[in-house]
Amino acid sequence: MICDNLEHIRAAVRAAALACGRNPDAVKIVAVSKHVAAAGVAAAQACGQTVFGENYLQEAAGKISQLDPALEWHCIGHLQSNKAAAAASLFQVIQTVDRLKLAAALDKQAAQLGKQLDVLIQVNVGREPQKSGVLPEQAEELLQAMQPLASLRVRGLMTMPPLGREPEESRPWFRSLKQLSLQLAEKGLFYDNAAVELSMGLSGDFLVAVEEGATMIRIGTAIFGERTRQ
Ligand SMILES: *Cc1c(COP(=O)(O)O)cnc(C)c1O
Repeated sequence: MICDNLEHIRAAVRAAALACGRNPDAVKIVAVSKHVAAAGVAAAQACGQTVFGENYLQEAAGKISQLDPALEWHCIGHLQSNKAAAAASLFQVIQTVDRLKLAAALDKQAAQLGKQLDVLIQVNVGREPQKSGVLPEQAEELLQAMQPLASLRVRGLMTMPPLGREPEESRPWFRSLKQLSLQLAEKGLFYDNAAVELSMGLSGDFLVAVEEGATMIRIGTAIFGERTRQ
């Protein structure tokens, strides 16, 4: 089942990328494994999936310790600054940096671990009060303030736009994230301004995200099935 789902998604991503003149290899599928047991992750790995996203630190720590150390783990959930130490050692990429205090804490921990930590800036494109993320007009200030943090590599932007009923409703939000990334890249605020990552698109709207320039799509339900809510 997981293999069929992955094959289906890979084929759809490839077709969508080619149809809009993009390189299909430039879109990374991040399999979102929240509430999925370690066995489910291992099953996805057996089908060639090596990149996984987790929302909750405790849950991630338990799973990561049981699985192949070669897997790549992305933090996609809200992070508290006092959890920066654990997060910096567990994850290869933190996609949810949205304030200086958290960035500084991650930088300090990465320095202590002697590693360079890849991060994305989470942007609240829809200005939803209940959602994490820096507001679009505050992203530049945050990135400027993060420039001295030598152990972080700011790779790009991530967003979780307002939930629509149709995939098309996500398009303007994805487009606005891309626009923002272009403005910030022009100012030289990313680690590699010629290769800025855009993490956007979920099970319901990843094809629209690919059309709008996503380089990472975060897919849970379409790979693992419906999650049992806790
Ligand atoms: C759960 C989650 C996803 C995956 O959503 P699906 O609709 O299950 O694909 C992606 N990103 C974040 C931040 C999530 O919390």
